[in-house]
This record gives sequence, C-alpha cells and structure tokens, in this order.
Amino acid sequence: MIADNLQHILQQIQIAAEKSGRSPHEIQLVAVSKRKSLGEIGEAFASGQRVFGENFIQEAIEKITILDTTICWHFIGHLQSNKARLAVQHFDVIETVDRIKVARLLNSHADEFGKDIDILVQVNIGREKQKSGIMEEDAVRFLTDLRQFSRVKVRGLMTMPPYAIDPELNRPYFKQLKQLSEILMQKDLIADGKPAELSMGMSSDYLVAIEEGSTLVRIGTAIFGQRVYIEEIK
Ligand SMILES: *Cc1c(COP(=O)(O)O)cnc(C)c1O
Repeated sequence: MIADNLQHILQQIQIAAEKSGRSPHEIQLVAVSKRKSLGEIGEAFASGQRVFGENFIQEAIEKITILDTTICWHFIGHLQSNKARLAVQHFDVIETVDRIKVARLLNSHADEFGKDIDILVQVNIGREKQKSGIMEEDAVRFLTDLRQFSRVKVRGLMTMPPYAIDPELNRPYFKQLKQLSEILMQKDLIADGKPAELSMGMSSDYLVAIEEGSTLVRIGTAIFGQRVYIEEIK
C-alpha cells in the first residue's frame, strides 16, 4: 500500500516536472510521517524513501534515534525556543524558521555541536492570522538579519497556503513564493549563492506546486493514508 502510493506519487512528480519543462531530479519528496508508526516509516524506507518530515520534536526523536541513520529528517512543525537544541541535534533541515530569537538559538546550538544547520524561512504567504511564518514584505530584512548567524544556512523558503479544496486556488500563492525567492537570490541572501529551495505543495496540491517551481513537496496523507490521532486510539 505505502509502496504503491510512493511509486504513484514519484510518477506524478515526474509527469508534473516534465510538463513544466523541469527535471524530476530538482524535486525532492519529503514523506510526512507525523503520527505514523515505525513500521509505516520502515515500509516507506524499504521502498527507497530517504527523506522524512516530522512536526513534533519529542515524537520525532523517538523515531530518529531508532531508525536508519541515512534518513534525512526535516522538521516541519512549529519550533518552540526550548526545543531548538534538540532540533539542531536531531534534524538535518529545519523548515519553519520565522523568528530571530529561534535562529539565534539554532546558531548557538549548532556551534555547540560543531556543525552547520540548514534552514528554510517559513513565509505566511496567505497572510492568515492563525498561521506561522513571516510576512512577504519582511523577508528581505529577515534574511538580512539572519546573515549574522554563521552556522545557520538559509537554503530557501517554505510555505503553507490557505486550505483550499481546489488546488488551482493555491497557484497564485506558489507563484508569489517563487517570485519572492528570486528577489532574495538577487540580493544574495540564499546561502552559498545556490538556487533557493522552495518547500511548497502537500497531498492535495503538490502537482500545481511543482508546476510553479517547488523543489520540496511535503506529502503525508497520499503516502500513508489519513492520520489517526493518538487520543482517538486510546
Ligand atoms: C502535515 C503536514 C504536511 C502533510 O500534509 P498532507 O496533506 O497529509 O500531505 C505538510 N506540511 C506540513 C507543514 C504539515 O504539517
């Protein structure tokens, strides 16, 4: 089941990439495994998946410390400052940086561990009150501020557009994030002068996101099925 889903999604990614004149190799699939068991993650791993995304630090660490060390772990949840140290210690990429205070902590903990930490800046592209992320107009200033943290490598941007049943409704938001990333690249605000990563697209809208330039799609439900919450199992 999980293997079939993964195969199907990788095929779809390839079709969407080719349709928009891109190479499928530019697009990484982040398998979102929050609330999923070691067995389910193992199944995805067995069919070749190596990049996983988790939302909750404690839940993630329980998995990370047991599972294969070749897995690349992305943190995609809201990061509290008191979890910054654990995030640096256990994750390869932190996708949800939107506060200088957290970036400062990530930097000092990275220094403590003697490593650099790759991050994405989360942008609240739909300007929703309840969502995390910086406002688009603050991006240049925010990324400029991040330059002071030598251990923090800004690889690109991440966004979660407003919930929409029709993925086409999210296309303008994806375009907007892509345009913003181009401005940031022109201003040399992406680490090492590399092209910006764009983490956009989930189960319902990843094909549209790829057409608009996504390089990381974060997909949970379409791989693992609906999430059942712990409270409901008890
Ligand atoms: C849960 C989650 C996803 C995956 O969503 P699906 O609709 O299950 O694919 C992607 N990104 C973030 C930030 C999430 O929290």
